[in-house]
Amino acid sequence: MFDIAIIGTGPAGLEAAITSRIRNKNVIIFGNRNLSEKIERGHLIKNYLGIPDVSGKDLRDRFMNHLNSFGQQITEDRITAVYSMGDYFSLQGSSGAFYDAQTIILASGVSAEKPLKGEQEFLGNGVSYCATCDAPLYRNKDVAVLCYSKHEESEADFLNEVCSSVSFFKLYKEEAEISDSIVRIEETPEEIKRADYKTIVSTKEGNEYSFDGIFVLRNSIAPSNLVPGLKTDGSHVSCDRNMKTNIDGCFACGDVTGLPYQYIKAAGEGNIAALSACAYIDSKSRQKDK
Ligand SMILES: Cc1cc2nc3c(=O)[nH]c(=O)nc-3n(C[C@H](O)[C@H](O)[C@H](O)COP(=O)(O)OP(=O)(O)OC[C@H]3O[C@@H](n4cnc5c(N)ncnc54)[C@H](O)[C@@H]3O)c2cc1C
Repeated sequence: MFDIAIIGTGPAGLEAAITSRIRNKNVIIFGNRNLSEKIERGHLIKNYLGIPDVSGKDLRDRFMNHLNSFGQQITEDRITAVYSMGDYFSLQGSSGAFYDAQTIILASGVSAEKPLKGEQEFLGNGVSYCATCDAPLYRNKDVAVLCYSKHEESEADFLNEVCSSVSFFKLYKEEAEISDSIVRIEETPEEIKRADYKTIVSTKEGNEYSFDGIFVLRNSIAPSNLVPGLKTDGSHVSCDRNMKTNIDGCFACGDVTGLPYQYIKAAGEGNIAALSACAYIDSKSRQKDK
C-alpha cells in the first residue's frame, strides 16, 4: 500500500513526487521514464523562475536529476482505471498489474485527442483501454485497435496473438511497425456504436466496420473515464485551491486542472496537491490513533 500514487511524469507529477518524498511519504509515480514529451518540446523557456532561457531538453534533464536525487523510480505502466475502494484506491495498469494507494494525484496533462462519440458510453461494454487486462475476453474474436500513439503498437501485436483478427486504425504520424497479419484500415474513426452484441466503428470517410470489441489506446485517458464519479468541467478536473477534487483522497494538478498550460503553474500545483495529500493522510492516521 503506497501513501500516494501519482499519475503523470510532467512537471506537475514530478513536483508532487518530490514534495511527497520530502514529507517522508511512500510514493509511486506512473509515466514515461523519459518524462513527459511536452517538457522536451519546449523550445526556449523564458519564465521558469530561477532558470531563464532554459531549453526544454535541459529542463527535462534537470527535472530528472532532481527526481533521481530522491532515489524515486518511475513505474512505466499506463494507468487504465482507478477504483475507489472506500478508504484507499486501486489503480489498474495496462500491464495488468494493480497498485493500491491511500491517495491519488492526477497529473496526467491534457490530451489533444477528444474521446470519440460513444466511447465513454460503451467503455467496459465493447470498448476497452487495456489490451493486457481485456484480451482474454476477446480470445478467437475479431477486434479493432484505435491506436493514437506509436508507444502502444506492441499492444496491437499482443492482441494479434490472442484474437482471431486485429484491424488497426493508425492515428499518429509515425510509420506503423506492426505484424504483417494485422489488417490496416487507413480511415479516421468518428463514432463508436453497439448493435447486436457487436461494436461498430463509423469513420469520417462514411464507412462502418463491425467488431467483437474495440481497444482505444492513447497515452492519456480522459480523467472522467479514468476515475469514475470524478467531477469535471469539460476536459478538465474540477478542484479547489488545495487541488482537492470531489472524491476524498483524490487530488489533481497541472494542465489537467485547466488553463493556463504552463510548466511553472503545473509544478506549483503539484506542490500544493502533494501537501494536501500529505495533510489528508496525516489527518486520517491521527483519527485512527484516537
Ligand atoms: C510544444 C510545446 C511547447 C510548450 N512551451 C511552453 C513554454 O515555453 N512555457 C510553458 O510554461 N509551457 C509550455 N508548454 C506547456 C507545458 O508543456 C505544459 O503546461 C506542461 O507540460 C504541463 O505539465 P503537466 O505535468 O500538467 O502535464 P504533462 O507535461 O502533459 O505530463 C503528463 C504526463 O502524464 C502521462 N500520463 C497521462 N495519462 C497517464 C496514465 N493514464 N498513466 C500514466 N501516465 C499518464 C502523459 O503521458 C504525460 O507524460 C508547451 C507545450 C508544448 C506542447
